[in-house]
Amino acid sequence: MTLKISNTLTRAKENFIPIDEKNIRMYVCGPTVYDYPHVGNARPLIVFDLLFRLLSKLYPNSKVTYVRNITDIDDKIIEASNKLNISIQDLTNKVTKDFHNDCHYLGCLNPTVEPKATEHLNEMVSLIQKLLKNGFAYQSNDHVYFQVSKFKKYGNLSNKKIEELISGSRIEVSENKKEPGDFVLWKPSKGNEPSWDSPFGKGRPGWHLECSAMSEKYLGNHFDIHGGGLDLIFPHHENEIAQSVCANNNEKFSNYWLHNGYVTIDKQKMSKSIGNFITINELKKKYNGQVVRLAMLSTHYTQPFDWNENILEASNKNLDKWYEFYSESDDKINEENLKFLLDDLNTPLMISNIHELYKKAKSGDTLSAKQLSSSCKFLGLFNQKPNEWKNFKKIGKISSEEIEELISKRNEARLKKDFKTSDEIRDLLNSKGVLIKDKNGNTTWDYK
Ligand SMILES: [Zn+2]
Repeated sequence: MTLKISNTLTRAKENFIPIDEKNIRMYVCGPTVYDYPHVGNARPLIVFDLLFRLLSKLYPNSKVTYVRNITDIDDKIIEASNKLNISIQDLTNKVTKDFHNDCHYLGCLNPTVEPKATEHLNEMVSLIQKLLKNGFAYQSNDHVYFQVSKFKKYGNLSNKKIEELISGSRIEVSENKKEPGDFVLWKPSKGNEPSWDSPFGKGRPGWHLECSAMSEKYLGNHFDIHGGGLDLIFPHHENEIAQSVCANNNEKFSNYWLHNGYVTIDKQKMSKSIGNFITINELKKKYNGQVVRLAMLSTHYTQPFDWNENILEASNKNLDKWYEFYSESDDKINEENLKFLLDDLNTPLMISNIHELYKKAKSGDTLSAKQLSSSCKFLGLFNQKPNEWKNFKKIGKISSEEIEELISKRNEARLKKDFKTSDEIRDLLNSKGVLIKDKNGNTTWDYK
């Protein structure tokens, strides 16, 4: 079975050939944890989760490593923490927890490693030192910049010349730069902004640096797949390539670059100002996560996905039908029913095939019924038993705020020795997939 994937770098659909069959490595850019993730953020989570599942299936005797970072230091985070008047750490811890809640809701497996930027400052500093030593970076007025004109392949991923890239985007203007396209590797922190000591002065890293540093730490300086949303190609991914290739004097960084398409809402760009901005957290009140997952998979990942009520309604109905053939047993999906995913994760065709299996299952074909269940499970659906699916449709899932609120109500009840109420709250949380633990007078919670 050969997997074909669309490689942004070559603009072609190519056979996936791992560097080392026994050690498959994938890096995906994760969230900047400053606010609730929105539906646009849900798409790469689902797409690359499916690819991770597929790689694990295709290489059963190999180590498959999926790294997805957490950006926990960034201008947006500093801004949000000032606005909310809470510490950066409290903000990033809370949003990271919300984000994990969202991943769980969307039926995503945990990545193998989920490194945080603030825990990898040493790696970032040594990457800058290598870039300075190799002559690709320069210091200027307490900043360190990468000089893009020194890297001849800059723009290869986006297939554009430096001038075109610069004119088409909002590039920071600064008199500290030698050339307008240069990007920052290290900058001084202002006032009481978070800062770290470094050989270039007290400050903090530029955003692009963390992905180069963390991918190298966990995957080595040449690995198989790098993924993310289309909006990250420039400047973020272009800059990651420049940093990693130039720091290591390497020809290559990631062999395959995969990008998922944009998400629009009712054919419009998502925007807070026109009110069509939906967070994943808001969806929990209305839809089962499986409905959202199936809806997103109904469009091929390279195409734009239009979010609208119709597609969610249709997904809900389809899941309701398919659940008739939910099977407890873990039959393996056969090649005949998996082959659609091998062709560049063709989920629309995979879903059409599930409809066919449903028809056959309805006419009494038990093999098709079992393969229907296995196909759904492979897509990350059917992660609830039929009765849970029915109940969850009514009660929906739960946000971390609601969990915390229920836990504090339960603690109040326990103080009053009202154990009936405290047990009811614990059971309610349990029915929503939340496990609570009491230890040394503290209550902690996690997902089941
Ligand atoms: Zn990144």
